[in-house]
Amino acid sequence: MRLLIVEDEEKIANSLKKGLEQETYSVDVAYNGTDGYDLASTEEYDLIILDWMLPGMDGSEMCAQLRKDGIKIPVIMLTAKSELGDKVNGLNRGADDYVTKPFAFEELLARIKSLLRRPVNYLATEFTCDDLTLNANTYVVKRGEREINLSRREFALLEYLLRNEGKTVSKEQITAHVWDYDSDILPNTVEQYVGYLRTKIDRSFPNKPALIKTVRGFGYTINCR
Ligand code: CA
Repeated sequence: MRLLIVEDEEKIANSLKKGLEQETYSVDVAYNGTDGYDLASTEEYDLIILDWMLPGMDGSEMCAQLRKDGIKIPVIMLTAKSELGDKVNGLNRGADDYVTKPFAFEELLARIKSLLRRPVNYLATEFTCDDLTLNANTYVVKRGEREINLSRREFALLEYLLRNEGKTVSKEQITAHVWDYDSDILPNTVEQYVGYLRTKIDRSFPNKPALIKTVRGFGYTINCR
């Protein structure tokens, strides 16, 4: 899952990015409304954390503009206590939820998780594929009874494949949802990570069916029974 933080207070923005990356999200940061709007309209995000008071374009203006553009990415607005009266206004402008500053990281995280769960394909937090299970809350991945240790990126890649079970996802889609804007991505980076993941979930279980399939010329799919 890839998130965008638009927040002009660098300290808040950077500590949020750090915390969310530890939760396996890919995170980009914009420090003003104009850059935030540009990123939100050109990159593929799964959720935006948007500060209300921003230089350039303010949060509610940016949210309204995104909705006008037809962009339906869930938005969590960050507001200072003194701006509480403006909440109704912000709701009208298309934000999905609010967190009042100062906030506890756990509270924001809970709201992020609940918003990401909202659309049908996000309903599940526990995924099963053949005898593989992935729990998006506890980060435990198992094949049969055996627990598999994945890196943050491998986990995010597997989760993305599982959320799109039954579909073939392209390298570009994987890059857009699993890596952030600042990552150094080489033409073979996705292939490389699919390789790491295969080693851990398929090749380590030679007696079991391989789950990740390459669809030549199109991308990858996870094959579940
Ligand atoms: Ca601000």
